[in-house]
Amino acid sequence: MRISDGTVRLAERNAKVVSETDVVVVGGGPAGTTAAVSAARNGARVTLVERYAALGGMAAGGFVLVLDDMVNGQEITVRGLVDEFVERMAAKGLAAYPSEAERGLDEAAIRKWTRWGAFDIHSNGRPKPIVYAVAFDPEGWKEVSNELVQESNVELRLHSWFSETLVEDGTVRGVVVQTKEGPQAILADVVIDASGDADVAWSAGAPLIEDSYIVTPVFRLGNVDVDAAERFEWEEPEKARELNRKAKRILGGSWDLWWLRTPLEGIVWCNCPHMRGFSATDPVALTNAQFEGRRHINDLVDFARENLPGFENCHVVDVAPQIGVRQSRLIQGEYVVTKEDIVRRHHFADSVARGRDYYTPYRAMVPQHVDQLLLAGRHYSATPDAQRMSREIPPCMSMGEAAGVAAATALDRGVRVRDVDVAEVQRRLRAQGADPGDVPSANATILEAAEVPA
Ligand SMILES: Cc1cc2nc3c(=O)[nH]c(=O)nc-3n(C[C@H](O)[C@H](O)[C@H](O)COP(=O)(O)OP(=O)(O)OC[C@H]3O[C@@H](n4cnc5c(N)ncnc54)[C@H](O)[C@@H]3O)c2cc1C
Repeated sequence: MRISDGTVRLAERNAKVVSETDVVVVGGGPAGTTAAVSAARNGARVTLVERYAALGGMAAGGFVLVLDDMVNGQEITVRGLVDEFVERMAAKGLAAYPSEAERGLDEAAIRKWTRWGAFDIHSNGRPKPIVYAVAFDPEGWKEVSNELVQESNVELRLHSWFSETLVEDGTVRGVVVQTKEGPQAILADVVIDASGDADVAWSAGAPLIEDSYIVTPVFRLGNVDVDAAERFEWEEPEKARELNRKAKRILGGSWDLWWLRTPLEGIVWCNCPHMRGFSATDPVALTNAQFEGRRHINDLVDFARENLPGFENCHVVDVAPQIGVRQSRLIQGEYVVTKEDIVRRHHFADSVARGRDYYTPYRAMVPQHVDQLLLAGRHYSATPDAQRMSREIPPCMSMGEAAGVAAATALDRGVRVRDVDVAEVQRRLRAQGADPGDVPSANATILEAAEVPA
């Protein structure tokens, strides 16, 4: 070992090759799980690696418990594997969403669904219209992820922390993961980075930028009389508004509704506190964020018990095992999606994924300079302000599903992933029930310049 200038030179080590496969997916969150299942269903041999003990990423480990950002007016724009997750969780009684008849501005539906988080988050009106959005349970998400991964014969390796990308002459050959048994190598023809923090692309030296947004240790409260809490808000709106304002001040920041219902009796999830200035790739910053978050949470619980009807006997059930990270590294790919693209609903001829009313071009999942690497999920190629508006779970799943199909299609045709025939990827996605956004909705802006793939 040599120490100089505050760094230690590490000894070279061998990593045992534990898997040789067609596609390795790094990260088992919403994007990675859908990427793995989608590639496997299209005939590829797939290995999925995840650092933690369960699949889900922010959706399960981060307690982000509402699927939203998937409607354009009344049109549901994100389809495919997300539907399978919803159907399977609902069949287990672990997901809830408004029926078609309940969507809109009907007062009874607003009373029923607002505290489930099933409202249009982008509407400035009050009350906000009820839309298709799905509240779910994190264990339900993990169960369904396991089912889908097993049924599609994905080789799943949990407890495997990605540490290094294997790159040869600008082409990715696989990854190294850190495990209790030391470093292990997984060799593959295509790597899909779904780590959320662009870990694979960063290690491979692909161009990227680093930014940060709010981080949140999401938590759940139990023993809440949810009906009483809701009744109070409808019957005494002024008083409720004042108390909720105080609660949000104690939390140090939150969206308008700081607690939401869950499918579990008496348990609410709290998508807060909002904390700024913490880098999501710095372990010290993340450690500090955990401590600061818990301080806010404990203060909030004291306040809620004393002041809020329905919360008199509440307690913290759990703080999410993964701190909520919305943004960190963003790949600078063959196309960088801008805020204008999102706001003006620019349609791209190579669209392979959708969010609410926006389209994700395949080029935004392909890094510059590095071959056989695709990125799917919240670290996709976008400016920081564009990413903040286009990073919800459904669009990340849509990207994951597209990346899986693109990888399998490229392997079938014997071409590099950057050269894959996007029209074939779109056709395959449609055939499996997804909506790649190849057909623009009526409110899309067709921008000729942006349509020509680089
Ligand atoms: C507090 C908060 C509230 C949100 N609210 C909503 C909401 O209400 N509705 C909504 O739809 N979206 C919401 N979002 C956004 C959404 O949760 C994320 O953008 C989405 O989960 C991103 O999915 P992903 O698969 O790209 O990344 P992630 O969910 O972050 O998954 C990444 C996965 O990769 C794994 N991983 C990371 N690094 C490594 C490594 N080195 N080795 C192995 N595995 C690794 C992680 O453990 C994780 O499983 C919210 C986000 C946050 C943080």
